[in-house]
Formats: sequence, structure tokens, C-alpha cells
Amino acid sequence: MKHLVLDVDGVILNWLGRFVEYMDVDHGLPPAHPPGELKDYSMQTLYPDLTSSEIFAHIVQMSRCEHHFSTIPFNNGVLEVIARMREVHPGLSISCVTSAGVGEEIARFRATNLAELAPDALVVLPLNADKSIALSRFPAGSLFVDDLVKNLEAADRAGLTPVLFATSYNEDAGWSGLCVRDWQELETLAMETLDRGVRPEDPVYAARIM
Ligand SMILES: [Mg+2]
Repeated sequence: MKHLVLDVDGVILNWLGRFVEYMDVDHGLPPAHPPGELKDYSMQTLYPDLTSSEIFAHIVQMSRCEHHFSTIPFNNGVLEVIARMREVHPGLSISCVTSAGVGEEIARFRATNLAELAPDALVVLPLNADKSIALSRFPAGSLFVDDLVKNLEAADRAGLTPVLFATSYNEDAGWSGLCVRDWQELETLAMETLDRGVRPEDPVYAARIM
């Protein structure tokens, strides 16, 4: 069976867009810069007047609000690309591994949000969790897509094939492996590699590194 393993926030869902909206509308805290200009994953660049623990408290609070956290918009092209992948690869298994928070309620919000995508498996870990153990349960060579380099490094150690979902906030994160910039590029990579895996010596690999 072919396996595609996906991070959720930043890859499937536009979490950052929703968080910025939540901070602005619910708390009167507009971002100091457009979120598309964020150059690292520190939210303090967007909210310089808040401490990191204050920002983290807002992140936790939003994850407990059903109307915010179960309705985060999909990134462009996600559902269309997933539908085409399933059509071309009928045995494809799509799993989501997300660091969303602790508790049955948060897991339910996440499942509600992803219902239209209908993942074959959903693993919900605590916020900022290490994904190593969860990733080690997938077959070696499975494509794994995430927007944080620390998770790609964990996937690499687990024998998966890590792919960076490139954004403004990870372009300087030092990743030198496979990367895609949007779901169209991910579709191309997956269609080229799901049947046979991808090795560093593969021309596909060279074409897709940062
Ligand atoms: Mg993410």
C-alpha cells in the first residue's frame, strides 16, 4: 500500500491565517506585519508587544474554540489534489499527524475540520509535540510533508521521505532536502514517486530540493 503522511497546520489548513483573524477580531490584536511576510515561526514577530507565553496562551485558547478550530480554511488546491491522487492511486492511504493539543474535544474539532478530506488515519499530538514516535509507525519510504524542519528531521530518522511544504517562515530554516511550494507541486511529486519511492540519486529528487 502507498502511504502519504501529512502535517495539518500550514500544510492542509491555513492555521496562521485563522490565528491572525482570531487575534484581530476576538482580541483587537492586529499583526504587526502581514502573516505572509513572517520570516520565522516565532509569532513574536507578528505580536512584538506580547510575551511568548501570552501568545501560546492565545494559541491554546483558540484550539479550544469549536467555531474557530473546527473551521480553519483549507489551503488552495488541497481537496482537488487529494481527490485526483486517490483516483490515480486507488490503494493510497492518507494519514494526518498533527500537533494540535491534548484532549478528546480538540481531537474532535480537528476531525470535524478534516472531514471533507477524509483521512484514513488521524494522529493528534500535544502542541509542539515531537512527532518521532508517531512517524516511526509508518512504512519506510512513505512521503511525509510538513512545514517545520524539526518534524522533517524526525521523519528522516524514522526512514520516511521528508518533504518541506515551503512558506515564507521556513525558507531560511536550513532545509536542503525535497520541497514543494504548493499543492500542485506536491501532486506532481507524489504522482512521480508514490509508485516507486524516491531516492537521493533520483532526478526527481534533484529537481525538488531547495
Ligand atoms: Mg505545520
